[in-house]
Amino acid sequence: MSNDYITRVVSSDGAIRAYAAITTDMVNEAQRIHHMYPIPIAALGRTLTAAAMMGAMLKGENDTLTLQIKGDGPLGGIVAVADSRANVKGYVYNPDVDLPLKPNGKLDVGGAVGRNGYLSVVRDMGLKEPYTGQVPLVTGEIAEDLTYYYARSEQVPSAVALGVLVDVDLTVKVSGGFIIQLMPEADEKVAEKLESIISSIPPVTKMISEEMNAEDILKKVLDGFELGSFDRLNTQYRCDCSQERIERALISLGEKELTDIIENQGEAELTCHFCDKKYHFNKFELQDLLNKSKERP
Ligand code: ZN
Repeated sequence: MSNDYITRVVSSDGAIRAYAAITTDMVNEAQRIHHMYPIPIAALGRTLTAAAMMGAMLKGENDTLTLQIKGDGPLGGIVAVADSRANVKGYVYNPDVDLPLKPNGKLDVGGAVGRNGYLSVVRDMGLKEPYTGQVPLVTGEIAEDLTYYYARSEQVPSAVALGVLVDVDLTVKVSGGFIIQLMPEADEKVAEKLESIISSIPPVTKMISEEMNAEDILKKVLDGFELGSFDRLNTQYRCDCSQERIERALISLGEKELTDIIENQGEAELTCHFCDKKYHFNKFELQDLLNKSKERP
């Protein structure tokens, strides 16, 4: 059972749209599945937290969102997928990355991600072509990269904060974040006021550690702005893989590849990247999939 949630609020004048998330259970679940070192936990935790809030922003019930970060650092890359009900799943390419702490004592997520690379957002809204936006990485620290993505790719000035506090036993103490977005109604004054508050508030992990809930965090960030009512939504780590999906992936490999597997290995075991569940196929089952593959137009 997850206690994680997202809260949403819009300022009374419509100029600010804000989201905050508490994601401690979600990131602990990701850690239970992936057995990561501290830096990958922080990197994936920040990305999952962002994806959960971005999922909550999706308009269509069946829309999905994939947030991907790829750099030239040892982490390789990060993938997070969310749906409109804020179910999220994700993984890092290399869960065993370890680097020295930064001079400020923080985990070096930017160093693990690397600089030369991109952040991409793919929104699948059930249309023929999904919407894709991509920007080069700024720092690899994820929150800054997402801020840059919103400004450059979506022309929405935003403030993004994401934080994961990893304990010595490699569990997650607290995790969460917020995304504040300025709507076209917002003028220069609103932007300046918001900027000055955000530069003076404590890190999001500190606020959560001090038992502030997501509403408290948004009230602090949006201090002095008149707000509408808060709206909560549950969020959790959830993988929706199934035997049928894996079969479809195998069929799509095509005749040649499947014949190769049958002749050389005689069986196949596939592991879901998102939840580590294993799917086993014996020779007869593979033969059946090969026949289905041949029937495909
Ligand atoms: Zn899965």
